[in-house]
Amino acid sequence: MSFPTIAVTRATQPKTKPLADAALGFGQIFTDHMFSMDYIEGQGWIDPRIEPYAPISLDPSAMVFHYGQAIFEGLKAYKAADGSINLFRPQLNFARVNQSNARMVIPAIDEAFCLYALEELLKIEKDWIPTQAGSSLYIRPFIIATDPYLGVRPAHTYRFMIILSPSGNYYPQGLNPVNIYVEEEYVRAVKGGTGYAKTPGNYAASLIAQAKAYKAGYVQVLWLDGVHRRFIEEVGSMNVFFVIDGKVVTPAINGSILPGITRRTVLELAKKLGLETEEREIAIDEIAELAKTGRVSEVFGAGTAAVISPVGELRYKELVMNFNDGKIGPLSQQFYDIITGVQYGRLKDDYGWIVKI
Ligand SMILES: *Cc1c(COP(=O)(O)O)cnc(C)c1O
Repeated sequence: MSFPTIAVTRATQPKTKPLADAALGFGQIFTDHMFSMDYIEGQGWIDPRIEPYAPISLDPSAMVFHYGQAIFEGLKAYKAADGSINLFRPQLNFARVNQSNARMVIPAIDEAFCLYALEELLKIEKDWIPTQAGSSLYIRPFIIATDPYLGVRPAHTYRFMIILSPSGNYYPQGLNPVNIYVEEEYVRAVKGGTGYAKTPGNYAASLIAQAKAYKAGYVQVLWLDGVHRRFIEEVGSMNVFFVIDGKVVTPAINGSILPGITRRTVLELAKKLGLETEEREIAIDEIAELAKTGRVSEVFGAGTAAVISPVGELRYKELVMNFNDGKIGPLSQQFYDIITGVQYGRLKDDYGWIVKI
């Protein structure tokens, strides 16, 4: 396949990389280079380039600042046991860019070219991939509307960028279950809205409930549907799973839920392991009822950042539900071990998940 040439401008003053045992945290450190390309109506996506990471200049009237026409993605590069660089199902991230773009009226990208551009960027930045256990290079592709214009309409010009951030182990203390607050006042998304698109506005809308949950001593929010405030949607920025009578159950993709790649991976893996799976509506009162008799053995979130995030406690109004004595459950552990094992090359990729660079 032949792709447009990517112009490369090397950083003349590379930054000092974090020490091998540094606490990297998440999303605070950025590498030496970034990828950009622009869209101009009539010309398409043009001028692909890798340049030194630096602030960008935009007109204060750039449309993204005013009406939020933008999308983003999140994935990771892992330093594998054999020294290679592993990407986990990156084709699905770039396919989702186009699904998000379609909803936000942003012109489609060439998915294969964007993956190629990411690979070229990673070849230049490979020494930035941290090697401590559980660490990775977080990859943030995003697109913003750049027209200097205050009228409300889809933009005519956009920028696509990829930036990279070395990030530490999500679980420096091991996989500890978290306590979750079931939100019944605010909602994240509604059917017909933008819930299935990875767009910044969904996050802006979620912050108030997040702050409320923190205040009440919880780390995340479990979202209910916007119409009935009854059907379970997601937990924070992860999809959510319940193990009910040994079955792996998750809310069906319904237009307001983000179709997570980790969600899809857990469902595929569960089937491969011979477990029964269900994608359906799950009412919070159903979980409350089943939890009384111990039929919900595990609850966990699933997303790129944490992979699997076990839930020890759900609080719904005055009701406190506990799962698996506040410890990580066996299936949660198994999903975590297999997915991360394949990501870091400790386990053979029998699934076709890994793209090696
Ligand atoms: C990104 C995201 C997820 C998880 O998707 P993955 O592809 O598994 O990382 C879930 N919910 C929301 C709202 C998200 O933005």
